[in-house]
Amino acid sequence: MIFKKEKILLEYTLEKCSNCKKDNKRKYQDNDLLFSKCGTCSSCDGELFIERIFSEEVS
Ligand SMILES: [Zn+2]
Repeated sequence: MIFKKEKILLEYTLEKCSNCKKDNKRKYQDNDLLFSKCGTCSSCDGELFIERIFSEEVS
């Protein structure tokens, strides 16, 4: 019997503040769009933009 190990990919979104450059990695959400505004920074109230969307393999 052949057992296939499935790879699980988790998608992440990296948010970055345009003001203080602080970034935050979080789970990807369906309506996330690259380089779009996604909120306000928790430390300086600047605008948060989506810097990167990527996926990581989970073993
Ligand atoms: Zn900030």
